[in-house]
Formats: sequence, structure tokens, C-alpha cells
Amino acid sequence: MTSEIGLIGLGTMGAALALNIAEKGFDIAVWNRTTQVTRDFHADAGDLAAKITPTDSLGDLVAAIKQPRAIILMVPAGEAVDAQIEALRPLLGPDDLIIDAGNANFHDTNRRARESTGPIMGIGVSGGEEGARHGPSIMGGGKREYWDRVSHILMAISAKYEGTPCATWMGEEGAGHFVKAVHNGIEYADMQMIAEVYGILRDGMGYGAPAIADVFDRWNNGPLRSYLVEISGKVAGTTDAATGKPLLDVIVDAAGQKGTGRWTVIEAQHLAAPIPAIEAAVVARNLSSQRDARAAGEALFGPAPRAMADGTLSIEALEQAMIGGKILCYAQGFAMISAASDAFGWALPLPEIAQVWREGCIIRSDMLNDMASALSDDPGRNLMFAPYFAEHLKNCHEALRQVVAQAALHGLPAPALGSGLTYFDAMRTHRGTANMIQGQRDYFGWHGFARLDDGTTGQHGPWAQ
Ligand code: NDP
Repeated sequence: MTSEIGLIGLGTMGAALALNIAEKGFDIAVWNRTTQVTRDFHADAGDLAAKITPTDSLGDLVAAIKQPRAIILMVPAGEAVDAQIEALRPLLGPDDLIIDAGNANFHDTNRRARESTGPIMGIGVSGGEEGARHGPSIMGGGKREYWDRVSHILMAISAKYEGTPCATWMGEEGAGHFVKAVHNGIEYADMQMIAEVYGILRDGMGYGAPAIADVFDRWNNGPLRSYLVEISGKVAGTTDAATGKPLLDVIVDAAGQKGTGRWTVIEAQHLAAPIPAIEAAVVARNLSSQRDARAAGEALFGPAPRAMADGTLSIEALEQAMIGGKILCYAQGFAMISAASDAFGWALPLPEIAQVWREGCIIRSDMLNDMASALSDDPGRNLMFAPYFAEHLKNCHEALRQVVAQAALHGLPAPALGSGLTYFDAMRTHRGTANMIQGQRDYFGWHGFARLDDGTTGQHGPWAQ
């Protein structure tokens, strides 16, 4: 009984997390469903092996951890988590804490917290394998007292932004997994906007992959500096060893997904929180997988015009459009978090969320630091209205408009950038068009409308009921 913490599931993430925990000086006991994996993991752990206790059974794992115990689950979300909790709980004491660190749907985490006979938490961990090994961003959910019991370990293993740990308690029950889901939704939109600009450069402006790599590399030294822009430059600049062609040119144009973007969109609809750029990104992934239908469409309608005349768009306009799209996408994501905070009674800490995303996670970027400042000034205000970002938007929305318009004119799909622009235009239009919808609803369903002139509600038009 010497280990400070236990971990179940030595897959990609679990193994990296266990090594990170050991490296930060904590003794850890580990168990994996397939025992050989545990043995191989321990054998390959090098100097860290001394901090790691490999175990062959759940009973041995439990026996190896100091009381009250804390055990991290890093297994696939869903049934595997429920099965693991069911197998583990009878072996645990009443104060022992189970920490589900996989990508659970936050509704499952809510349910587990309510049904659990003992302490349980759900934490979102972002940053992929590299992050898990050397410092992820960690979004904690569950009772505050449970977080306090393990926060010294979670903060020690997390990424640091100028020395500040990227690990925070978000709120009760599934709050951590909810914030992680929105993170992933934003990640989808960030990636999609980069892919859209890549498409404009490739098909509209005739750039080859190496030239596109140069553009992303340059942008990564400016306001768009971020992990995703950085790796996009690296991906575009990579040559395929087998063919000598740019690697991008041999990768099938059908994007995979594990569901967290979809969960975010579904939840946004339940909350009536508008996140059109994120929705567009999820739709784009779904469309990308319909390759046969797209081939049939191209055969039927002919390819879109695509190639732009020289000087139609500049690289600077594309950069400005990306800046605008990114601000609008994050504004939507944070507004959704704010809506959930109210709906679920969570008091989600918006500035701290921006802070823990500054390092370690996939969407880390310089801009998140400015977002953290803007949200600290006024967490309840839409990010696009914060003075710093409003100024940016004033400067770049025309470029965004140019890029979206030219993309449309040349048949180049740009759904996330276009949805960002639509959101911007809707949010700057006081007198919208829903008066027509209210008129229609009253006409066919006698639903009533409010009058602009005297403020009365429940009014009807002169049509028959
Ligand atoms: P892997 O597939 O690499 O590993 C899965 C692990 O879970 C293995 O140790 C496997 O054991 C174990 N396992 C699988 N099914 C069961 C089961 N029914 N009961 C007990 N153990 C089981 O997955 P990852 O490490 O990539 O992902 C783990 C979690 O982390 C997931 O929820 C994922 O969504 C999340 N995540 C992943 C990220 C990534 O970049 N990969 C990033 C952030 C979160 P065995 O060796 O016996 O098969």
C-alpha cells in the first residue's frame, strides 16, 4: 500500500498519463485488462519503472494504493467505463474515489455521479498522447472536495502557461466533461476553418502543398499563432515517402470523428445556444465521408469553377478572415458554456476555462490568453463585444466577407467561415426578419405576436382563426 494513485487502462492515453504521473514524483499502481500490456508497459518505463507498481488483478491494484484511494479510469467512453466502475466499486472503501478521465458524454457523468455509491469524478483531459505524457489541459468535474483531494497531482501533471497549471475544477457532476466536449466542438471548427482556407489556396489560388505550408508557417508567427496552425503547416510541408508527392495529396478527403463534436451540437440545440460555426464543422465532416455521392454530384453537375483570377484574394485577406472566423467561433463556444452554466446551475468559470486552454490542449493558441483577459473583465458578455475583440472584428470582417463571397462565387465550400460571418451579421442587426416568421406563425397557428410600437403581446393579424 504505497502508491499515491492508481490507473486503469494502459492504452495510448493511460500509458502516457501514468508515465507523466510517475515522472512528477508520485508512486502509481497500474492495471490493464490485458495483462501482457501491463508487463510491457512496466518493462519499457525505464527510470520511471521504480515509481510504478504493475498489478495483475483489480484486487492487487486496490491493495497497492494508499487509503483513501484515488483511481483513474482511462478506458473507452461508454459501457467500458460503467463495467469498470461496477467491477471496481465492491473492492473499494466508502471514501475511495474513481476518476473517469476518458471522453465521457457529460450526461453519463451526471448519471454516474447521481447513481454512484461512492465518490466519483469525471475529468476532461485534452492534448492527445503528447499532452497526456508531458502536460495536458485538465477540466475537472465532480464534488469540489474530491477535486481538492487529487488536485495536487492533476496540477503537477498538467501543462503550464507561464507557470500557471492548466487544470481547474469546472463544477459539479459532468461539468468537466461538458467543458471538454465544447473544447472539442471548437477544435472541430478551428480545424475546419483551416481546411477551408487550405481549399481556397489549393483550388482557388493554385497553391501547391509546400507553398501552403509556407503560408501557415508565416501565420504561425502572427495573431493566428496556435498549435493547429503550426501542425497544419507541418502536415502541408510533409512529403510522402512512397510516392515523393506532398503527403496531403495522397490522403483521402474523408474526415473521421469520435462523436464529441456531435454531442456539442446536440447539446447546443437543447440549450438553444447558437454555435453555427461548430455545427457547420460537424456537418462538413459528415459530408466529407460521403465520397461516392460527391463523385456522383461532380459527374452530374460538373466541377465548380474554382480557379480564381489573379488578385481575387490576397494572403492577407485570408489571414484576416481566419482571425475573424476564429473569434466568432470562440465567441459561440463560450456563449454556449455560459448558457449551460445557467441551465445546469454550474457557475462554470469562463475566464479559467480560457486559461486552462492556453496550453496543453489541441486548441491552445496565443489568442486564448486575450480571451481569458476579456472574459475576466466581464464573463457574462459575448466575447465578440469585448473591446479588444470588437476592434479586431471591425478590422477583419470585410476580409471575412470577401473570402466567403469569393469562395461562394467559385464553388469552394467554406461552411464554417460562412457560418461565422452569418453569426456576425445576425449579431449586428437590431431589426431582423423574424417578424415575418411571427406573422406566418400567427397566420397558420394563431400563435400571436408582440407589437413594436406599443409593446403589447399576444396580438393577432386580421386573418381568420
Ligand atoms: P486506447 O484504445 O489506446 O486504449 C484503451 C484502453 O482501455 C486499453 O488499455 C484497453 O485495454 C482498455 N479497455 C478497452 N476496453 C475495455 C473494457 N471494456 N474494459 C476495460 N478496459 C478496456 O484508447 P485511448 O487511450 O486513446 O483513449 C482512452 C480514453 O481517453 C477514451 O475515452 C478517449 O476518448 C479518451 N481520450 C483520447 C485521446 C486521444 O488522443 N487518444 C485524447 C483525449 C481523450 P486492452 O489493452 O486490454 O485492450
